[in-house]
Amino acid sequence: MQYLNRFVAARFPGASTLAQVAGGIPVTNVLPAMVADGFLVAGDAVHQSDPLTAGHHQRQHGGLFAAQVAIRAIRQGDTSACFLRRYEQM
Ligand SMILES: Cc1cc2nc3c(=O)[nH]c(=O)nc-3n(C[C@H](O)[C@H](O)[C@H](O)COP(=O)(O)OP(=O)(O)OC[C@H]3O[C@@H](n4cnc5c(N)ncnc54)[C@H](O)[C@@H]3O)c2cc1C
Repeated sequence: MQYLNRFVAARFPGASTLAQVAGGIPVTNVLPAMVADGFLVAGDAVHQSDPLTAGHHQRQHGGLFAAQVAIRAIRQGDTSACFLRRYEQM
C-alpha cells in the first residue's frame, strides 16, 4: 500500500484518497482435490485464481464447469465423488 500511495502522490499530486481496500488471494496452484461425495467447491476456496491477473476468467470457468457437472450429477442421481471428478478433469 505504501508503494501505491507513493506512486499516486508522485503521479497525481493534489489527488485525495477516498478509500483503500486490501486483502489477499490464493497464490498457489489450483488444489488437486475439489470434490468429495455430494460436495464440490469452486473459486478462491480451491485457488482458482491467478496472483498476476486475479484470475477472473479462471474463476468463471471453474464456476461454469462446477455448475455443468453438478446439474448432470443431480439429473443422473449420482453425486458421488467419482462422478464429480469430471469437474476436476475439466
Ligand atoms: C483487495 C482485492 C482486490 C481484488 N481485485 C480483483 C480484481 O480486480 N479482479 C479480479 O478478478 N479479482 C480480484 N480479486 C479477487 C476476487 O475478489 C476473488 O478471487 C473472488 O471474489 C473470489 O470469489 P469466490 O466466490 O471464490 O469467493 P468469495 O468472493 O470470497 O465468496 C465466498 C463467500 O462465502 C462466504 N462464506 C465464507 N464462509 C462461509 C460459511 N461458513 N458459510 C456461508 N458462507 C460463507 C463469504 O462470506 C463470501 O461471501 C481481488 C481480491 C481482493 C482481496
